[in-house]
Amino acid sequence: MTAAPEAAFDPEAFRAALREWYRNNHRPLPWRAKPGLYATVVSEFMLQQTRVETVLPYFERWMRALPDFESLAACSDERLLKLWEGLGYYRRAKNLREVAREWIRRHEPPRTATGWREFPGIGPYTAAAVASIACGDPSACVDGNVVRVLARLTGWAEPLPGGGAAAKLFQPLADKLLDRDDPGTHNQAVMELGATVCRRQKPLCLLCPVNRFCRARASGTAASIPRLPLKKTETRLVIRIWCRNGNRLLLHRAQPDAGRLANLHELPTAEALGLDPRKLPETARLLIRKKRAITRFIITEEIHEHPVQIDPRSVKADAGLVWMNVNDLETVALSGPHRRWVRELLAPAKPG
Ligand code: SF4
Repeated sequence: MTAAPEAAFDPEAFRAALREWYRNNHRPLPWRAKPGLYATVVSEFMLQQTRVETVLPYFERWMRALPDFESLAACSDERLLKLWEGLGYYRRAKNLREVAREWIRRHEPPRTATGWREFPGIGPYTAAAVASIACGDPSACVDGNVVRVLARLTGWAEPLPGGGAAAKLFQPLADKLLDRDDPGTHNQAVMELGATVCRRQKPLCLLCPVNRFCRARASGTAASIPRLPLKKTETRLVIRIWCRNGNRLLLHRAQPDAGRLANLHELPTAEALGLDPRKLPETARLLIRKKRAITRFIITEEIHEHPVQIDPRSVKADAGLVWMNVNDLETVALSGPHRRWVRELLAPAKPG
């Protein structure tokens, strides 16, 4: 059995150094400027698997449009997806609305991480973040950032287990280091350290406020810790069709039960149009080829212009296919990459 990571330093001295650094160096993020339960919940959902810089404009827009749990609970699917469009992992938006509805149903919302775990879409990390930041609950947050900081502090040279096992491995140490008098600030400080100083690539050890406690720094191994489990990747090719009829563009709207893409519009796949992606007509012209990674999949998407005009009347609504006026595209929710690709393809050609 693997021994638990342990700190060979005084937790109080560590907390004090971290607290002092955070007080003077934290980024002035909008959810920190006006803290509150709702702002904390929204920001924590948006920040799941998403960088702060990406979240910033979304957060501001969201808070103007849906300033409280009540307005979020009453928000329609269309509006919700439109506000979330481009942030990805769309299930988060639906779960966030479910949280608002559950919050309203309860007369007394929870104040502990254990209580927040009962809400939809809230895992151990988000529960600890919300409960500690907004309610002062002494729960330590452990996500990938925190694991990295703790692994380096303890010089943890063993390969990390995959999935949520690494967070579980470091949870006892995070609990031990937690500042129980101000758990919200402490959690934010560790996360801020991981995001801005103890970065995945090129950690800034010289500037680090806790470098005197750090084993990885002392042994010169910071850059090689943590040792992450190898990801098994799979490649996929998706053929999509650019089908335009005058001012109208053919899109596919995913069914409401289509998981992460539910109700979002995308360019249709060849299969959705009854075409065999391996046998497109020779006249089908490749317009663009894009590569992206989603979880463990490396997906190449090719968008081909279809040479045959498809009669708008032949497209059945129950197949999820819709003709959309290109001037109205901004009013519907497209998935983030498709929004970019459609804009790129509709942009007037630059004079050569
Ligand atoms: S000294 Fe370097 S490796 Fe250690 S916690 Fe600080 S930034 Fe991370």
